[in-house]
Amino acid sequence: MIHRQMLVGGHWVDALGGATFERHNPATGQVVGAVPLGGAKEARHAVDAATDALPGWRSTPARDRARILHRAAELLLQRSDEIAPLITQEEGKPITAARKEVAAAAELLTWYAEEGRRAYGQWIPDPVSDRRLLTIRQPVGVAAAITPWNVPVSMIARKVGPALAAGCTVVVKPAEQTPLSGLAVAEVLHEAGAPAGVVNVITGDAPEIGQALLADERVRKISFTGSTEVGRLLMRGAAAHVKRVSLELGGSAPFLVLDDADLDLVARDLASTKFRNAGQACVSPNRVLVARPFMAELADRLADAVAALRVGNGLDEATDVGPLVEPAGVDKVEAHVKDALAKGARGVVGGRRLTDGPHAAGHFYAPTVLADVTLDMLVTQEETFGPVAALIPVDDLEQAIAQANDTPFGLAAYLYTRDISRAVRVAEALEFGMVGVNDSRIAAVEAPFGGVKSSGIGREGGHEGLDEFLETKLIALGVH
Ligand code: NAP
Repeated sequence: MIHRQMLVGGHWVDALGGATFERHNPATGQVVGAVPLGGAKEARHAVDAATDALPGWRSTPARDRARILHRAAELLLQRSDEIAPLITQEEGKPITAARKEVAAAAELLTWYAEEGRRAYGQWIPDPVSDRRLLTIRQPVGVAAAITPWNVPVSMIARKVGPALAAGCTVVVKPAEQTPLSGLAVAEVLHEAGAPAGVVNVITGDAPEIGQALLADERVRKISFTGSTEVGRLLMRGAAAHVKRVSLELGGSAPFLVLDDADLDLVARDLASTKFRNAGQACVSPNRVLVARPFMAELADRLADAVAALRVGNGLDEATDVGPLVEPAGVDKVEAHVKDALAKGARGVVGGRRLTDGPHAAGHFYAPTVLADVTLDMLVTQEETFGPVAALIPVDDLEQAIAQANDTPFGLAAYLYTRDISRAVRVAEALEFGMVGVNDSRIAAVEAPFGGVKSSGIGREGGHEGLDEFLETKLIALGVH
């Protein structure tokens, strides 16, 4: 069993009263490790440390900050054999996917190391002759990063990378399901040479820590990824001191299969995107809107692809789909599937918990395909966050667009068609922050990632991700 401590002010510390909590492996039920159960006091200590470290860090040249981020990226890659299995044991995803996550986290730190060196200001043409207008970019200040469990290492890199590159100091609160993965990132940044207090990572009671961070005027930015419900709560709390917020929240991605789509491509992309991380991704296709003539054939093709998926312990190299992170996740999937079948959906493959043999001690659900799904079913109305492909027949393009947009969420959408003009028009009409056209790999470190409507505010990745941690200051300079 691993026991890791929190990182506060450059020191490894326990919770003040010594309390801890354990994380269990969702594939086996075994204890993975124990971490400190921190709360409001620990959060305030972390903010104290981040505040003390801020003047030194923001005045460190961007090139020197970059060196530390580069070194952290190298260390992450060197320790992939240690960190990737930790992700798998805490969260459940297959080890192959966990290694990719560690590599993605390293790439994020590398990208932001360099992007931080390009935080340019401007010299603005002035309407009067005895003055000059210029802008400089300055760090927001102390930033809090609250992260979810589904991509526990790269999600921290996606926030901490741009924050440190911009000159901010940070307090990170990882999810309760993946604290050890979060603390592994802290260890890497610490060893890479981040000065004391520049990166602080605390584990424990989320509502208490969240309130302490919101209530503290010294915290100038909240960067959050997680549910829309908690996002709203944080946004309300941030209003008291008018803190900056970035919110990456829930999704209900539509996946439009138009009547001229390449079905080979659709079946391949849908099978790989839908069942990645057992469907526990904010960009996972939640509603597959299929031109009615394609319904039966697509269902059959998906059934073949899904039948070949191996479900099991993610530490087994052969596993394609791991467990769900919590029993509640399986309960939700089961409720959605039962509701759909009761209302007339056709179960094509899967549709049951896996409880025998190697699945007996974990939270497993069989990859599932449902055909002839209708909009009155829970599976289309809520984010299922599980391994269920729900195929909904649509009769024409207008109906497909209207149904795709008929959701409070607006994170990712996918569109498959061979007609370039339709592709452009439909992509423009979809009310989502990201649209994949004949492609389902929408995330890249170089590109902005984020949503509209109830899916959030702000962008991560790309130069936009750095902007989230910078203020623009105008300097009006009299020239007499
Ligand atoms: P969650 O319950 O909102 O948890 C996310 C983080 O918020 C965790 O660290 C959690 O801590 C913390 N938290 C919970 N209550 C809090 C409070 N009152 N104050 C401060 N922090 C609090 O989300 P989840 O259910 O674990 O994650 C799944 C959701 O995240 C899905 O809706 C998914 O779509 C979304 N997501 C979005 C993106 C995106 O980029 N848009 C990416 C990934 C996931 P504890 O774990 O300790 O409770």
